[in-house]
Amino acid sequence: MADKGTAALMPYDPAYDPLVMDDPGHGKDYAPTYWVATAGDTPEDDGPVTKSIDVDVAVIGSGFTGLSTAIHLAKDHGIKAVVLEANRAVWGCTSRNGGQAQNASGRLSRSQWIKRWGLDVAKGMHAEIEEGFDVFRDMIEGIDCLPQRGGHIYVAHKSSVMSRLTTEAELLTNTFGYPCKIIGAEQLRSEYFNENDAAGAMIEPSGIGIHPLRLAFGYIDRARKLGARIHPASPVIHWEPRYGKHHLRTPGGWVKADAVAVATGGYTSSPLNPLVRKRYMPVLSNSLVTRPLTDEELEKCGFKTHLVITDTRVLRHYYRLMPDNRLQIGSRSAITGADADNPKHLDLLINDGLHRKFPALKGIDIDYDWWGWVDVSHDMMPRIFRPHPRQNITYAFGYGGNGVMYSTQAGRRMAQIVAGKENEVPDLPIFNSPLPTHPLAPFRRLGQRLLYRWYAFSDDHL
Ligand SMILES: Cc1cc2nc3c(=O)[nH]c(=O)nc-3n(C[C@H](O)[C@H](O)[C@H](O)COP(=O)(O)OP(=O)(O)OC[C@H]3O[C@@H](n4cnc5c(N)ncnc54)[C@H](O)[C@@H]3O)c2cc1C
Repeated sequence: MADKGTAALMPYDPAYDPLVMDDPGHGKDYAPTYWVATAGDTPEDDGPVTKSIDVDVAVIGSGFTGLSTAIHLAKDHGIKAVVLEANRAVWGCTSRNGGQAQNASGRLSRSQWIKRWGLDVAKGMHAEIEEGFDVFRDMIEGIDCLPQRGGHIYVAHKSSVMSRLTTEAELLTNTFGYPCKIIGAEQLRSEYFNENDAAGAMIEPSGIGIHPLRLAFGYIDRARKLGARIHPASPVIHWEPRYGKHHLRTPGGWVKADAVAVATGGYTSSPLNPLVRKRYMPVLSNSLVTRPLTDEELEKCGFKTHLVITDTRVLRHYYRLMPDNRLQIGSRSAITGADADNPKHLDLLINDGLHRKFPALKGIDIDYDWWGWVDVSHDMMPRIFRPHPRQNITYAFGYGGNGVMYSTQAGRRMAQIVAGKENEVPDLPIFNSPLPTHPLAPFRRLGQRLLYRWYAFSDDHL
């Protein structure tokens, strides 16, 4: 990758951990992802903040959420925002994910929405997600992000989940008007791919695989053409309200803003602002990309599709055959940043994921592997919310690993709220309530350790 935009000030830090580090970083280099290796030149940006400035809106964080907020503020509301990014542009989840745009916005299924909120609200949520997917389809047009269109394959990883999957497919089709079909193991093998222990699958019509960093670089160009400014290596290290303005301190100068949009995702550090403290759990996800598969390997794995795929494990795998016939697969990782580069986590992904699903790929070279922090909210759904009526601060995060598609719509909604157009935002729980805090926040990692053991056991044995 050649640098047109701001180069790194600091090397990549594999042990970065937002739960124990108060410092969001300052010009850190990218994680060594396949996306960084294949995105082309970094786009031009506006360099770090070098003096104190007054702005209408400051957006903190330059992932999909922050960039979409800046684009929609300019396009729909005539507001030219300033995006402040701690590290290199698009440094967080957005340059590290699996690139799977799915018809979801958090971790809950449609049937879980109905249980939590009732049918009417669940239908309102479904309409919001569908609208979000239309916005996403429009936004990726004209950006060379290698879209793999056609839907999503949700693989039953064992036969006992088929009845639940069938019920969900019927609900999606009959109650939500979203036509999903169930296929058996044989049809999956003959028409899609030959996954060793798959018991069948649900095929849903919406789902696009994209190159996330190319898409985000396209968003940067678009945002800047619309008049937004993108300042990498400009972490917000202190925030205080003064005389009706938000004073945000960056190493290069104060940014004084009338309104602030927080788009810091799984990289939100506790001291940023009390309004976002303890409102999510950062969870690591691991990802790898193999060398391109040979014709013989493709034949043995039976690959006839480039659709995006996930499986029904609680500790789910997300995977797909890339446009250049490499296989990408990701899943759970370490609990702490300090343990993230322990080889046992990559071994687990290789042995329990890649090899178990596709035994013909045993021993294949892994060309890239990396990890990133996913923002899991305490009730498994995101919020795009302005917590305090007298402070123009809005946040959008908590997608729980399902933000590639919905973060674009979340940015659009955040722009509406920041611009004072709340009346354009539907009356739904993700917009009218805060991200919940957790009473046992200091012990969350202990709970996560126990839960991972339980999930691994139940995924395989129950
Ligand atoms: C390994 C992995 C795989 C994933 N796979 C998928 C997938 O296949 N499908 C899917 O839907 N979702 C996936 N996700 C989630 C998805 O990537 C995100 O939901 C999406 O990119 C939206 O991210 P964001 O813009 O909200 O936050 P991010 O992209 O994380 O951006 C937040 C930014 O805020 C910056 N920041 C933090 N604090 C400060 C500060 N104080 N000052 C300035 N800047 C600050 C950070 O440096 C960071 O760059 C995955 C995530 C990971 C980690």
